[in-house]
Amino acid sequence: LAKQEGRNTFRFHTQALSSAASERLSLDTRLRRALIDSEFILHYQLLINVNTGQFAGVEALVRWQPPGEDMVPPGKFIPIAEETGLIVPLGEWVLRTACKQGRAWLDAGLPAMIVAVNLSGRQFQSADVVALVRQVLANTGFPAQYLELELTEGMLMDNAKHSIATLNALKDLGVRLSIDDFGTGYSSLAYLKQFPIDKLKIDQSFIRGLVDDDNDREITATIIAMSHILKLDVLAEGVETEQQLDFVRQHGCDYYQGYLSHRPEPAALVEQRLRDRAS
Ligand code: C2E
Ligand code: MG
Ligand code: MG
Ligand code: MG
Repeated sequence: LAKQEGRNTFRFHTQALSSAASERLSLDTRLRRALIDSEFILHYQLLINVNTGQFAGVEALVRWQPPGEDMVPPGKFIPIAEETGLIVPLGEWVLRTACKQGRAWLDAGLPAMIVAVNLSGRQFQSADVVALVRQVLANTGFPAQYLELELTEGMLMDNAKHSIATLNALKDLGVRLSIDDFGTGYSSLAYLKQFPIDKLKIDQSFIRGLVDDDNDREITATIIAMSHILKLDVLAEGVETEQQLDFVRQHGCDYYQGYLSHRPEPAALVEQRLRDRAS
């Protein structure tokens, strides 16, 4: 009986796997087409100075807008794009588009501010990531010191020695570096102090628990304190309530982003906010 069950289970798994695989295949085809047909757009979420409430920058977040359909969030396609390699041309498009936008805002007379762009693991590991960033900065004329590249602990710790070399080469271009979703990975403190990074972004899972989870409070307070010991800026992600903002403010957090302040929004809407604030 066990054998028979085993065989049935096997058959079941094969079917489930192959249908998941073919779904992925057709989604991959659709994504490749979407890139050619310019169906990706960037939204921008404002980053806020905790103490002054001033705008400190924006984070570019990609969305897929298939014509006549609902907008698709990145969680639905970035992992597939990462798996198939499409993330490389898509990530290049994101970087270029965000830098062009940043340049356009400067040309429109808006105050200079950080434009943060997420890099994927595959992009970061690709041999020519440094050349790509250099080329995009040169082509768009966006000043390097305002571009912030977001990396994750997993990407950096995967091959920490190699990461340090790449990070140093990126720093030599003059860009800023941050670690996204901090606290969810497995950073070693020994490496953390060797990485030439500028900012830690506290993962939103800890911020969510600030009101009723002692551990999340301790972890958040510790990351903020550690950031300052390491002379890094620190930002709280996913701040949705005044209580959460009060907590991070009381513990000396420098920046936050979250629905409490602004959602990720189309460039035109963000630009309007920047104008209103600047005038
Ligand atoms: P992330 O880089 O950590 O970006 C922050 C995510 O938190 C965004 O989700 C944002 O919309 C969401 N968020 C911001 N404030 C709040 C809040 O107050 N509450 C809640 N519940 N969520 C909030 P989004 O845009 O769906 O992006 C998800 C993830 O997809 C990003 O996480 C990032 O890892 C990835 N991603 C997005 N755009 C890109 C991209 O251009 N390239 C790469 N490689 N990854 C990207
Ligand atoms: Mg990010
Ligand atoms: Mg994050
Ligand atoms: Mg993330």
